[in-house]
Amino acid sequence: MKDSANEQNAQKIMAIKKVLGKELVILTHNYQRKEIIDLGDYRGDSFDLSQKAALDKDARFIVFCGVHFMAESAAILAKEHQIVQIPDMDAGCWMADMANSYNVEKAWNEVINITGENSVTPIVYMNSEASIKAHCGRNEGAVCTSSNDSDAFIWAFDKREKIFFFPDEHLGRNTGNSFGIDSERMIVWDPDKPLGGNCVEKIKNAKLILWKGFCLVHTRFKVEHIKEKRKEFPDAKIVVHPECSQEVVAMADAVGSTNFIGKYTENASAGTTIIIGTEINMVKRLAIENSDKKILPLLDSLCPNMSKINPENLLNTLQEIGKKNVVKVDDKTKKCAKIALDNMLTLAS
Ligand code: SF4
Repeated sequence: MKDSANEQNAQKIMAIKKVLGKELVILTHNYQRKEIIDLGDYRGDSFDLSQKAALDKDARFIVFCGVHFMAESAAILAKEHQIVQIPDMDAGCWMADMANSYNVEKAWNEVINITGENSVTPIVYMNSEASIKAHCGRNEGAVCTSSNDSDAFIWAFDKREKIFFFPDEHLGRNTGNSFGIDSERMIVWDPDKPLGGNCVEKIKNAKLILWKGFCLVHTRFKVEHIKEKRKEFPDAKIVVHPECSQEVVAMADAVGSTNFIGKYTENASAGTTIIIGTEINMVKRLAIENSDKKILPLLDSLCPNMSKINPENLLNTLQEIGKKNVVKVDDKTKKCAKIALDNMLTLAS
């Protein structure tokens, strides 16, 4: 019943796409279910899709099948004539909600009062509200994603001695580890505690200050899950996303963004067993697309926000193209957030 409704919606969506032609572009994030990916024009990670949104001049309508912060970033990068829509306005992100402009501004001021303004660069993960990206732009920082975090760190350390990284502690720590930063010099900033739970000396000594945020989907993966899978499939390769804890990352064979995980799977030889620690819809899709390999999830971990997008609400959005669920960012926020996003796009080129 559900399949036939999806099929009918897909046919209607294809018909609308035919009518709108190049005026419409549908961007789909790697965590979208397969039916949505199949209806999109481009799929990728948040970095690819933000580049696509920044470069596409033909499309008048950009429909973003992903979560709100992604559509917001597309709206920030969009040209004057472009309208960005999302099929479900309630598709948010728990991690992005862990940092708001009030507590980030407060923390920033506390840190620079101790270290001085010219010793810290803010780097904000794409998974954040526009207001946090704007804070970063105002303070000469950049946005990063899980595919260009290392480039962003090199860029930032070239400018100043310290990085304040928002809002994912784990991506920040895993990147810090790959740079060989001593754990003593990576401190966590808990916005609910005075000075983030640190003393003045620790802040002065820090090289990397990590906002205490996390992804519930990726922190569900534990060391025990890896141990169980290694026991059951001793020859398997395990690949995980860098939003996982450092303990999980340390036990995996490889770590990387959703695009990296996709390529790692594609490039493995036929017959390989690959166990993947990321969102379940992506793992299921990779299993279908790589039927010559055995693809298994490390654990069934679903992002309920990503899965709010379905063929029905995509169709509803397309039927009201340019009007329904339009994602807007006020001009002041847009101007500063764009600086941080442009810094990211420049460092990648
Ligand atoms: Fe946010 Fe995690 Fe879902 Fe990504 S997977 S949208 S970080 S909650």
